[in-house]
Amino acid sequence: MSRVYNFSAGPAVLPEEVLREVADEMLDYKGTGMSVMEMSHRSAAFQQIIDEAEQDLRDLMNIPDNYKVLFLQGGASQQFAMIPMNLMKNKVADYIVTGQWAKKAYQEAQKYGKANKIASSEDATFSYIPDCSDLPISPDADYVYICENNTIYGTKFKELPNTKGKTLVADVSSCFLSEPVDVSKYGIIYGGVQKNIGPAGMVIVIIREDLITEDVLDGTPTMLTYKTHADAGSLYNTPNAYCIYVCGKVFKWLKKMGGLEEMKKRNEEKAKLLYDFLDQSKLFKGTVVQKDRSLMNVPFVTGDKDLDAKFVKEAAAAGLVNLKGHRSVGGMRASIYNAMPKAGVEALVAFMKKFEEENA
Ligand SMILES: *Cc1c(COP(=O)(O)O)cnc(C)c1O
Repeated sequence: MSRVYNFSAGPAVLPEEVLREVADEMLDYKGTGMSVMEMSHRSAAFQQIIDEAEQDLRDLMNIPDNYKVLFLQGGASQQFAMIPMNLMKNKVADYIVTGQWAKKAYQEAQKYGKANKIASSEDATFSYIPDCSDLPISPDADYVYICENNTIYGTKFKELPNTKGKTLVADVSSCFLSEPVDVSKYGIIYGGVQKNIGPAGMVIVIIREDLITEDVLDGTPTMLTYKTHADAGSLYNTPNAYCIYVCGKVFKWLKKMGGLEEMKKRNEEKAKLLYDFLDQSKLFKGTVVQKDRSLMNVPFVTGDKDLDAKFVKEAAAAGLVNLKGHRSVGGMRASIYNAMPKAGVEALVAFMKKFEEENA
């Protein structure tokens, strides 16, 4: 068996220890004689899996008691509609557009009400985070929306926007559990788990209880109403049970590693290795404003398309895979999520050094 260093933006690398554990339990989960894949979501064994997963996530993020944790399907993209359907009581919401995912959410919200783009960094290919300290927040806005870490462009909000008292909704798909957060500053924090947590096919929504109501937009399907899932403990219908199980394993792994403070330390260390190299390199350069750099997604270029392609190809041959940048940006992107070991980033930097020498 040989494992590569997988720099994919998502689905992405998972902790090897977790993969081994789920492999060990594949045929017989804790004496049940079956795989979690084969198990009723109404069974006692599965109830314990989902309860523990929720509790471990609550412990990791210090989630206050007045927030619900929902394990839902449809990915992060489903939330682009579900959020306005459930929250747009005044049919007004403000969007800060810092990349493609925020833009998609903004465009989707326009189907349900008046979505205002109150700030954007599209003028410079989303290479920075706009100043959000004094934005023209709409007086009747139901919420202010951000994508906190921009997976494609590699920027991150280092400071949350001043929402002037309005509810903050954040897509944290690609920075979920990468560092501690103060959940109480948000109305909703949500993210697809396939970036930094688990297998694809699920989104976790952490939502303040007062935002969970029956008063949703006309025509909102039962399945797209937060209350349906909150009332049923995420078991209104069959959930992505296996994904919940693997995410639960990752939560336990994170706790064992020392929690989110420790992950932040490790993630900063890993990102520094790569950014320090980029900052002194004569061949490679980072593509975003320094102060807004993401700890998770690091885009870079040589400035020469053919050389970029050569790099991606030779890196893959050396066991450093999925380094091709997003199709909309080109160049390269290294996603260095929680589960990417420091050794993987060291191997990448060593390879970049060698490539730079050979192609000087
Ligand atoms: C990947 C990603 C999405 C889309 O996730 P899906 O689960 O594929 O819908 C949305 N937002 C961000 C920030 C992402 O990185």
